Amino acid sequence: MAEIQLHNTLTGKIEAFVPQKAGEVRMYTCGPTVYSYAHIGNYRTFVFQDILRRFLKLRGFKLHHVMNLTDVDDRIIANAAAAGVSLRNYTEKFVRAFFDDCKALSIETPEHWIRATDHIDDMVKLIQRLQEKTFTYSSEGSIYYRIAKFPGYGKLSKIDVSGIQDGARVDNDRYEKESARDFALWKAPKPGEHFWETALGRGRPGWHIECSAMAMKYLGETLDIHTGGIDLAFPHHENEIAQSEAATGKPFVRYWLHAEHLLVEDEKMSKSLGNFFTLRDLFAKGYKPSALRFALASVPYRKQLNFTLDGLQQAASSVERLRNFRDRLEQGKFPAGKQDGMAARIGKAAEEFDAGLSDDVNTARALAAAFDLVRETNSSMDKGEFRQGDGPAVQEFLAAFDKVFAVLEDNDAEKLRALGYGSTETGLSDAEIDRLLAERNAAKKKRDFATSDRIRKELADRGIIIEDAKDGSVRWKRK
Ligand code: AMP
Ligand code: ZN
Repeated sequence: MAEIQLHNTLTGKIEAFVPQKAGEVRMYTCGPTVYSYAHIGNYRTFVFQDILRRFLKLRGFKLHHVMNLTDVDDRIIANAAAAGVSLRNYTEKFVRAFFDDCKALSIETPEHWIRATDHIDDMVKLIQRLQEKTFTYSSEGSIYYRIAKFPGYGKLSKIDVSGIQDGARVDNDRYEKESARDFALWKAPKPGEHFWETALGRGRPGWHIECSAMAMKYLGETLDIHTGGIDLAFPHHENEIAQSEAATGKPFVRYWLHAEHLLVEDEKMSKSLGNFFTLRDLFAKGYKPSALRFALASVPYRKQLNFTLDGLQQAASSVERLRNFRDRLEQGKFPAGKQDGMAARIGKAAEEFDAGLSDDVNTARALAAAFDLVRETNSSMDKGEFRQGDGPAVQEFLAAFDKVFAVLEDNDAEKLRALGYGSTETGLSDAEIDRLLAERNAAKKKRDFATSDRIRKELADRGIIIEDAKDGSVRWKRK
């Protein structure tokens, strides 16, 4: 097996991944801020961390993985106050939607899925440690972190701190590099806002202290891996380092991994541009969860992902090709014995699949290894050269593949129904139906009944009934 190499934002280098404790990985992922429905950009990052954790598990590591729900921050406090409801009441709907979306995208449940609002005490204690070490100062009931006191400030995001005036402050949780300032660890409540009564006085935590406190509570003072989208490197992760390392005197994270952003048709997603998608938007148009997972996973995480509906359609075809192949392998009858060179070919594909993922989670390379094997095996099946005895090894390859990519199980229709999208919502145009029928016809001609049955099932799942007439023609209707 190849050595696992990961790009570390902290050093700017690709490094061999060696966890602190052999065979175990301590990993933290910044979860969603549940002030609204998460968008497909957020899920690009969450699918990336899922692929990473699944790959590490496949390689035999025991995972200690924490993902948090940020259920208190500026936006949530403001929105809940404006709606006149409690924080829990305001965030509950978005928390449920997030869990549903994760199920739809086959994002595994991390070992610890935790809420910020269940850890206020831990945050208060961490702020007190920082107070004792004089990294803080108070002003008007809020408590700030004095960045001038932490010599390593800026080491993750490489910002230049020379021009920053000591004592200049920022109250917002989110701000740009240009406004790097002392940031709020604890915020005094404004009238009408939710607050906690604590040893620090009335107030609520800043966003950054939440992740430091929760990560160290569950994973110890030094983590192996911390992931998030690239926009979190500054200020969020920079501030997490400053808080955690000032408190403990130890390195906080050994490998920082940041996913690049998803763009839609080469543009930043924004509601005003009309290119803003939630999963619900896409499922309502008839796109399948597996196609979306594939599309999000297929571009290596350090490249921007240009999302298009055409690309999503292609992802659906790729998933279909894999499922057809799996079915053909399981259901086809092949002559006994083994094909010359096939075992070596499968071994090479497995090696290349592992090498791709070991190469800084290069999903494109791993997928190419799988599709090359599928193409070559399909072609040897077409030529009648494939032998039954090679079946188990190919199946084993597919099983390992799917432990990471998780798209083979044919459960899109059930997932959509569970999310409340009925099977009458086909999303298929007449032309797409005709194209699928032509594919089914071609498969039948080749006596590839696994594929023809799959297409019939897919159409049925999407509310299209087909009737084979005696004269060989095919009719279809919508349910
Ligand atoms: P948030 O809920 O805003 O805290 O974001 C949740 C995760 O999604 C974070 O890791 C963000 O960095 C990430 N994220 C936000 N926008 C995008 C995007 N357009 N593409 C990829 N990841 C994103
Ligand atoms: Zn975080």
